[in-house]
Amino acid sequence: MNNQIKHKIMVLSGKGGVGKSTVSVNLATALAEEGFKVGLIDIDIHGPNVANMLGIGDKKLEATPKQTILPIKVYPNLSAVSIANLVERSQPVIWRGPLKQKMIEQFVNDVEWGELDYLLVDSPPGTGDEPLSALQVIGDMDGAIIVTTPQGVSTMDAMRSAVFIQKLNSKVLGIVENMSYFVCPNCGQRIYLFGEGGGEALAKELGTQLITRIPQNPELMRLSEDGKPAALYMRGTEMEAVFKEMAGYVINQLKNKKESNQEDA
Ligand code: ADP
Repeated sequence: MNNQIKHKIMVLSGKGGVGKSTVSVNLATALAEEGFKVGLIDIDIHGPNVANMLGIGDKKLEATPKQTILPIKVYPNLSAVSIANLVERSQPVIWRGPLKQKMIEQFVNDVEWGELDYLLVDSPPGTGDEPLSALQVIGDMDGAIIVTTPQGVSTMDAMRSAVFIQKLNSKVLGIVENMSYFVCPNCGQRIYLFGEGGGEALAKELGTQLITRIPQNPELMRLSEDGKPAALYMRGTEMEAVFKEMAGYVINQLKNKKESNQEDA
């Protein structure tokens, strides 16, 4: 694996539609905003939304004369690769396991990432071929961030993803609870549409931390459809603060890990 990449993090969820790609895109953007060099790989082969959420859905990946791949530059500090940048927009990808594994290997090993502080891997939901391949290909993954919504059907599946990560000798870096509450635009009260406390209970059960809670906000969704990450386009709001908090958590966790590794050496 490319040794110019300092930290590798997988973003995983038990269920689809809970905001895993939203977290990947905005965490990547928030880390890039802090001045770090960030790469984002979308291995959600059957539902690759990262490219659209970053506004690069129409761009195509290019090969170099060395037969390596140039990632797409999204912002000065952020590059990304997705299968969406290889196939036509509405076309499904109908591949079996070995072909998926090959693509993941190429996205990790054959992309000209250059020096990166963080490489984020947006995985499909669940515990199938793709996250398994990514963990095997990357080998020294720093850990995974698990995304869930507050209700039991989501936290239960998130628990499976977390146990999957631990069984494969990787680490759960923390839990992100998305769609935690909705702030009433009239009275400012928080309304807990999907119940309260699910993410926190999950984190406790796993012996990890709840990184942050992301409110439900239609503006985030609208911006996302336009390829504009909320971390960048909702300046001065609670949403920007939440993604900053998430980036800060990751930076600190991995800094501590590096320090404790140095102490162990
Ligand atoms: P996943 O990657 O888990 O399938 P996505 O990140 O694609 O989920 O999110 C699913 C949909 O929900 C998208 O339309 C996204 O914009 C929307 N969404 C995600 N999080 C929020 C939120 N906190 N508030 C409003 N809409 C959200």
